[in-house]
Amino acid sequence: MKKCDTILVAVDFSDSSDNAFQMALSMARKFEARLIILHVINEPVDLRGFYVPHISFEKLEEEIEEGAKKMMESFCRQNILNFENYESLIVPGLPYEQIIEQAGEHSADLIVLGTHGRTGLDHVLFGSTAEKVVRKSPYPVLTVRLEED
Ligand code: AMP
Repeated sequence: MKKCDTILVAVDFSDSSDNAFQMALSMARKFEARLIILHVINEPVDLRGFYVPHISFEKLEEEIEEGAKKMMESFCRQNILNFENYESLIVPGLPYEQIIEQAGEHSADLIVLGTHGRTGLDHVLFGSTAEKVVRKSPYPVLTVRLEED
């Protein structure tokens, strides 16, 4: 049987991804796997140099990246105790594309994602990122549903 050596968990710092993260961390401990914690800076339409000078955009991007790094550091500090076999990763792009791409680049054996337990909207089981990753990923995906009251 194929070993589960590397687990990629995608975090957007929401309650649903916190919940998925806890599952991914337990699995990484159990399988003694490496944990890749990925956050994707959701890139809007590229309007560099269109409305504002190129330089302002670069400054804005730097600040966004700096803010994302701080959030990731604080997330790891608060959520990881007695576990060192992990790496955090921040990349820009479309979340579902980057989640799949980074899983490939890091040879992940499993992708872990959160989903919402949305009541009343029975036909909408997944949010858009989770749905796209499940549909398009060539790698195994585990979705962890967060029940909402
Ligand atoms: P959604 O489909 O948008 O409700 O998101 C479902 C899950 O996809 C989240 O719980 C995260 O695990 C992951 N995800 C969504 N957006 C991002 C992002 N920008 N970076 C990393 N993971 C994300």
